[in-house]
Amino acid sequence: MEKGRFTWKTNLDDVKCPGIDGKARAAFETLGIESVGDLLEYYPRRYEDRTLFDRFPDQPMAEPVCIRATIVDTSLRRLPGRRSFFEARVEPTEAGGFGGSLVCRWFNMPFIHRILAVDQDLALFGKPKLSGKRLVIDHPEFEILGNDPDQEQIHVERITPIYPLISGVSQKPLRRLVWMVLGSLDADSVPEMLPERSAETSGLSRREAIRQIHFPESFDLLRNARRFLALEEFLALQLRVLKRRRELEERGGAQHCGPGYLLGRLLENLPFSPTGAQTRAIEEVRQDLASGMAMNRLLQGDVGSGKTLVAIAAMLLAVEAGYQAALMAPTQILAEQHYLVIQRWLEPVGVRVGLRTSARKEDGFLPLLAGGDEAQILIGTHALIHGESEFDRLGLVVIDEQHKFGVTQRARLIEQGHHGAPDVLVMTATPIPRTLILSVYGDLDVSILDELPKGRGKVVTGVRDFSKSKEAAAFIREYLEKGRQAYIVYPLIEESEKVKSLAATVEFEKWRELFAPHACDLLHGKMESGEKEAVMVRFRKGETQVLISTTVIEVGVDVPNASIMMIYNAERFGLAQLHQLRGRIGRGEHKSYCILMCDPKGDPEAIAKLKILEETTDGFRIADEDLRLRGPGEVLGTAQSGLDGLKLGDLVTDSVLVREARELAAGLLKKDPGLVSPAAQELLRRTTEQTSAPATLS
Ligand code: ADP
Ligand code: MG
Repeated sequence: MEKGRFTWKTNLDDVKCPGIDGKARAAFETLGIESVGDLLEYYPRRYEDRTLFDRFPDQPMAEPVCIRATIVDTSLRRLPGRRSFFEARVEPTEAGGFGGSLVCRWFNMPFIHRILAVDQDLALFGKPKLSGKRLVIDHPEFEILGNDPDQEQIHVERITPIYPLISGVSQKPLRRLVWMVLGSLDADSVPEMLPERSAETSGLSRREAIRQIHFPESFDLLRNARRFLALEEFLALQLRVLKRRRELEERGGAQHCGPGYLLGRLLENLPFSPTGAQTRAIEEVRQDLASGMAMNRLLQGDVGSGKTLVAIAAMLLAVEAGYQAALMAPTQILAEQHYLVIQRWLEPVGVRVGLRTSARKEDGFLPLLAGGDEAQILIGTHALIHGESEFDRLGLVVIDEQHKFGVTQRARLIEQGHHGAPDVLVMTATPIPRTLILSVYGDLDVSILDELPKGRGKVVTGVRDFSKSKEAAAFIREYLEKGRQAYIVYPLIEESEKVKSLAATVEFEKWRELFAPHACDLLHGKMESGEKEAVMVRFRKGETQVLISTTVIEVGVDVPNASIMMIYNAERFGLAQLHQLRGRIGRGEHKSYCILMCDPKGDPEAIAKLKILEETTDGFRIADEDLRLRGPGEVLGTAQSGLDGLKLGDLVTDSVLVREARELAAGLLKKDPGLVSPAAQELLRRTTEQTSAPATLS
């Protein structure tokens, strides 16, 4: 094997390279690039095709080209104000019968004249254009060719890597540094991580893949190298996920399932019967609860699909077996909403329900309980996992809107179970594309609610701009006269809570006058929770017909008679969030209307993407589209998702690699259960458990 001067672990400080000065080294340090290996995993952002063009250009071209040329003449002109102008006339190095010439020009780069001289051979890259009658290239990339005709060029005459910008380091020295390091790298020191050569990686070695990702010999090889290295990233992710799954399984568990009398009583008293999907999900949960293994299940269902019922069913089964159940929601409003609904539904069943949120921490949850007994079902925000444990016999944890919580918090809550591992049911309202499920929730079993309850009216969605405000108001008024109710939402997301509330407050006055005598009310995040509740009660009872609000209504509002929603500045929102908001209408039998009001001065692309909401109400399709448009970091919250380890892997387009990684990870775990092999250790080192706090909603 080839021994080089550098190993993968060599400290970058020990690598000397022209152009890499103290400033550059400081910049590397900021980026965490400390070793040769770190540098080699700083992958190019894109590539330029600077391979040699087949002729010398004799006319302007649409794209830049790479040519070989010899300098035949130069001139430097100094202009007033320290400006300057340098020209070099070049001719084809090998006059292949064509001859021809063109002029390279540099403005305000006087040092160029100290570098370039007549008779030098150059490799040039740039776009030929006409200046007057002359063919010119302004500011070409170039390299001066030495005497060795076979000498490889770093910057031109190749597919050239363009790196993500590092302040203080420009492309050329960085490229030269990578080139130099690759050239004298000890092949044995490159850590191999993929357990076997798979079809996806075309038999590359890791060292070769690294070389090709920086200096690809062809676009085919580049593609293979990218797949190789992306597969590695996905494998690291999958290994972490499967390891977590195994740890969860190894915790063992207890049976937390009663005979189902309580559940029966609940269902008897419900004003509706469960959908087929709900029944299926409840059955899957029941089996998990009844088994001696700990449940780790994800319940996925579009907004309005009725996840709460499944959660309540699960909690009743656990309570009936003599355990406590906890329901954790991402916001206080949602926790309170769950509390109200669940209390109402469980009244005929006779189960003690408690609420605990950070706002009510001081008085605890006990005063809220009838009789002051210990709660059988405890509902709260993430405050549930802080402070001393409230749970003596925690048997089941339900986590609503999992994507707002970090994985670590999930683990923390789970650890509150004192008698073996509690069962865990995670619910998410954002339908998650399959590749994402595997990558982020791959440690969980999945139940899907793919059916909406019957009797839901259709929701028609239309995108309009501010110029149509008058028409929209008239349209809404027409429905108010028919007795319907409406939401008007002001989601000024990037402003502070105060500004946001103010905007809704100012607009509120306007609407109140416009819609009189129909009653309007205002709801925003700055209001006291008692006040908020009062507003919601009035709206639910139909005492107010129009609710003007910030996005606080995204969660927890369920008013079947409300059949119109108008959302302002819709273009500033993710598709999935708009879909969620829209899920607050179409809950009754009436046909519903959602008007997405856009600022005509807003981002045209963002406005265009809203089309998809006009076309479909299929949450999965919208989620896919959202993922494509905004990327997984935005959709899930980067810190929460554990996806920050993906530099090359793309969850949207690499689904084949994700599945392959899943299989490789399972095989690896089987062969090496302790994950002690160097490859496994290296892979684990590449992913970190997440420790971030939950993102807060408005
Ligand atoms: P989500 O899945 O968005 O959390 P919810 O659990 O809040 O949905 O349910 C949405 C609404 O549908 C609630 O008003 C709930 O009472 C109602 N609902 C749930 N299941 C059914 C059903 N099977 N038939 C009719 N309405 C239902
Ligand atoms: Mg819900």
